Amino acid sequence: MTHTNFNNWLEQVAGKGILVIAGPCSAETEEQVLATARGVKQAGAHILRAGIWKPRTRPGNFEGVGAIGLKWMQRAKQETGMMTAVEVANPHHVELALQHDIDVLWIGARTSVNPFAVQEIAGALRGSDKIVLVKNPINPDLALWIGALERIAKAGIEKLGAIHRGFSSYKKMPYRNEPLWQIPIDLKTRFPAMPLINDPSHISGKRENVFDIAQTAIQLLFDGVMIETHIDPENAWSDARQQVTPDMLKEMIPKFVTPKDKVFNPDLLKSFKILRKEIDDLDTELVQLLKNRQDKIEAIGRLKFKENVAIYQKERWLDILNKAIKNAEENNINRKFIEQLFRLLHQESLKLQHQVFNALNTKNK
Ligand code: PEP
Ligand code: MN
Repeated sequence: MTHTNFNNWLEQVAGKGILVIAGPCSAETEEQVLATARGVKQAGAHILRAGIWKPRTRPGNFEGVGAIGLKWMQRAKQETGMMTAVEVANPHHVELALQHDIDVLWIGARTSVNPFAVQEIAGALRGSDKIVLVKNPINPDLALWIGALERIAKAGIEKLGAIHRGFSSYKKMPYRNEPLWQIPIDLKTRFPAMPLINDPSHISGKRENVFDIAQTAIQLLFDGVMIETHIDPENAWSDARQQVTPDMLKEMIPKFVTPKDKVFNPDLLKSFKILRKEIDDLDTELVQLLKNRQDKIEAIGRLKFKENVAIYQKERWLDILNKAIKNAEENNINRKFIEQLFRLLHQESLKLQHQVFNALNTKNK
């Protein structure tokens, strides 16, 4: 993908600002599509989105209006002058979307997990100059996401982009889909020129959290957002809980704060340099502390082996964890973070002691 210049499509559509794609989760009726289109255009969105074929988790739910919705999108485009975007999940969808002059085709999270499906879509797209956006696969697998993007790039699509919509998880969490920000950040590091768009609607699952997630993404230098917007969200036929109204979108867009990604102010640069040096020194110390900790763990591992004591000691582990949490709280460090960190440390500690046991076992044979 290194030769793809992504054709600078982002700037052509959104100028130097944040790209905003907005519209309903699903096209429901012609009136709903047209009214939403007018609303999101007025709010400042650049591209109108709508799902025409909906991938539903279980059968029996509303599965999209089908090809008729493409005609409504065409009408919305004629009336408002907005570009249009729909999800495509197979070559037939691509063919119909192209026939109806849809400008942006996106591949959904349930499709980008499947290389066969993506390859077929890539085949149907070959030779087209449309914008193609690939959502992250539902599972947190950067290689699979990149693979899907590469398949589309290899079909000659130059106007390519990625959409981060979060990752499915069994964890109890405040999100519908876990953001795992490091994954899109890694993608952006690998392909800095490729536009990266955030979908706060599918991450949050709740309209009241859409703004915060979008703002976090913008702070992380995402290039755009895709926000599900509906004229009557409460009565939407899909994703009712997470859609905002065009008025809410209109209020939201001017509030987005775009950070500078480069610093030119010499005083600020100087302060950065000092603080970064201090952080680097602390990091060196941190690694040294971990090395000291490791030495102690190996020593205790040797004693446990000698005396035939079990490696895992539940009471001791709970004691370590509780002390760390108490300490964290006293020092105003996030409790969850410390808990995760200590779980990782404990996991490593068990591994190190197993290695000690194995080494001593081999020696004794
Ligand atoms: C959607 O954008 O409406 C959609 C179905 O999203 P995802 O593929 O991210 O679940
Ligand atoms: Mn949706």
